[in-house]
Amino acid sequence: MEDFDYGIIGGGPAGYTAGMMLAGQGKTVILFEKDKLGGTCLNKGCIPTKSFLHISGVYAQMKEASKLGIIADNLTLDFAKTVEKKNQTVERIRKSLELAVKNSGVKTVYSEACVKDKNTIIADGAEYKVGNIILATGSKPREVKGLEFDGDFILSSDDILNLTELPKTVLIIGSGAIGTEWARILSDFGTEVTVVEMAEHLVPAADTEVSKRVERIFKQKKIQFFLKDSVEKIENRTVTLASGKVLTPEKILVAVGRTPVCPECESKVVLGDACGEIQLAHYAIHQAKAEALGIPFDKNLVPSVIYGEPELAWVGLREQDTDETYRKNILPITALGKAWCDDCTDGFIKIITKQGQIYGAHIVSKEASSLIHILLVAVQNHISINELKKLCFAHPTYAEGIFDILLSL
Ligand SMILES: Cc1cc2nc3c(=O)[nH]c(=O)nc-3n(C[C@H](O)[C@H](O)[C@H](O)COP(=O)(O)OP(=O)(O)OC[C@H]3O[C@@H](n4cnc5c(N)ncnc54)[C@H](O)[C@@H]3O)c2cc1C
Repeated sequence: MEDFDYGIIGGGPAGYTAGMMLAGQGKTVILFEKDKLGGTCLNKGCIPTKSFLHISGVYAQMKEASKLGIIADNLTLDFAKTVEKKNQTVERIRKSLELAVKNSGVKTVYSEACVKDKNTIIADGAEYKVGNIILATGSKPREVKGLEFDGDFILSSDDILNLTELPKTVLIIGSGAIGTEWARILSDFGTEVTVVEMAEHLVPAADTEVSKRVERIFKQKKIQFFLKDSVEKIENRTVTLASGKVLTPEKILVAVGRTPVCPECESKVVLGDACGEIQLAHYAIHQAKAEALGIPFDKNLVPSVIYGEPELAWVGLREQDTDETYRKNILPITALGKAWCDDCTDGFIKIITKQGQIYGAHIVSKEASSLIHILLVAVQNHISINELKKLCFAHPTYAEGIFDILLSL
């Protein structure tokens, strides 16, 4: 039996970040992981989907390349190879992570672990005495009654990564980040995609103007969607929606959120998805940082990003959260030279302001995932619009769109 200052269960972003940071503080740490280091984010979530988004995006661009004077005849997609590339990306990052965790001094045990008491963890038949226990056990795809996952017809976001062939048609239930990104991936690969969303708009968590733009983009991409609708019944692979619409998809992806996995135990610190708060990798990482290093962050200013072309990113107040004392300003991305050079002119930068301060930012644009951080710094630090106007933005960039919108205020 060995003694450790900390025992952490779960080797996803929350667990490995907390482990490495605590080890950096001179604590002895043991980390238990029942599957692969990196958790959902690296193995089944953020990274594989972004790898697929990149590949499907290149394929979609190649199909349009003749507009740029590039003739790419006989374009074909080798789906098995794209899966191989995605796997290589995941494995490469995992190897670096395994090395970083090892080098930090954290001891990793690859086994399912459970808590015996507030100072004892049991794993692989052994008992480990620890001063403190951190649970970072993550979450799993949420199942819906009548739409139980079968790994063949009704798929979770884990199952869909096991596809060996692209389906001709897919029905996606839910248009949050996971549903929207998979709609983009599959549609760009050539699958006919239909999305069913219970809410009034796609991407219900976003500012309504962002949602409406996504709806326009989906229409352009011929992604069919039904709003304020849901699955009523499934019989013999035939889906009837509440609206009466009948669909016969080859596969169904259920993307309606994730259920926290959090074993009951006394005296615990719970980090990441297991908390059931904001289920994002960066939230998990920054919670772990706050726990291990005591560096806090503002939980109301956690940026959201949905990837694909164009990216969607937002932080802070949405227009629908505000009253008439706030102002909104919008700059269409067509105002930017860089957008024309890149042939990516669909989108906008929108800011919500009041009395010379920015309270919310909503971006639909290439590079939105990076741009949002400029506005996050301004919102979080209450940097006035007049102060921001003093910054020099490089040209031609998407970032200068932020300068342009500030000038209009
Ligand atoms: C398709 C998809 C795309 C996503 N894209 C993004 C994105 O672009 N950006 C973003 O910020 N977030 C994204 N997410 C969410 C992100 O993956 C999670 O928020 C993040 O992984 C949470 O980290 P975590 O450490 O809390 O949990 P997890 O990453 O789920 O890790 C928990 C770990 O605990 C292990 N574990 C559980 N129980 C035990 C036990 N008893 N013993 C030992 N080990 C155990 C599990 O095997 C797992 O490895 C995505 C999720 C999905 C599904």
